[in-house]
Amino acid sequence: MPAINQEICTGCRTCQTYCTVDAILFENKKCHIDADLCTECYVCLRMKVCPENAIFAQDLVGFYKQFQHVISDPVENHGVTGVTGRGTEEVKTNDVSGRVKKGYVGFSIDMGRPGMGVYLRDAEKVAMAMASAGFMLAPQEESPLAALMPDNRTGKLVDECHDYRLLSVIIEGRCELKKAKDVLRALQKVEKEIDTVFSVGLISRVDENGACEALEYLDELGIPRPHRGKVNPGLGRPLSTD
Ligand code: SF4
Ligand code: SF4
Repeated sequence: MPAINQEICTGCRTCQTYCTVDAILFENKKCHIDADLCTECYVCLRMKVCPENAIFAQDLVGFYKQFQHVISDPVENHGVTGVTGRGTEEVKTNDVSGRVKKGYVGFSIDMGRPGMGVYLRDAEKVAMAMASAGFMLAPQEESPLAALMPDNRTGKLVDECHDYRLLSVIIEGRCELKKAKDVLRALQKVEKEIDTVFSVGLISRVDENGACEALEYLDELGIPRPHRGKVNPGLGRPLSTD
């Protein structure tokens, strides 16, 4: 993790303006990094923000600590998915992966934001609530977060990582269309129990007549329909009719 050499730091506070989550504290005329607040995003290191070069990297101790850094830092490659940072393919490649088939919907829950971050204990609450409602969490090869789940059918994360704070993280997977309303209800309930924000990505097939049942569920639950979206035209394999 990053640290500040107290012998070199002049207390100019320049670094504080760059920290993504206010993890650099000013005390006794010097700055230091609060290990519990730091997301290991490495912005302060990578951007060389300190004019005195007082910020340095310490060894990350423990497998899960490495994981925290890899997900929070958008330029690190995640060894399991092969994608940088928290990134995943979501449904962008559905034309060839066919992850969301007819009769299914996908969800990608984007938790945390710069300035706020997300503790993994909160990501676990959301993942477990969704799993209890019939959501099938994506496996490790599709989702970095799943690498922290001994059993991705439950959404529970390894205890060691609960207090790790990340810049943001994505929970993703799919469920049968008939379970989608239960999953949305679970999200409505659990969002009152966490200490961060999330946005919901709903991934749904449109039928031959242009209808999308999942959007009607949003209406029924009083959730505003999205103003924007991404369209996957279905020109690859599996075929749009599969
Ligand atoms: S920018 Fe460098 S010298 Fe200035 S407060 Fe931060 S660590 Fe200290
Ligand atoms: S690694 Fe990121 S969160 Fe930690 S002190 Fe540096 S900028 Fe802040």
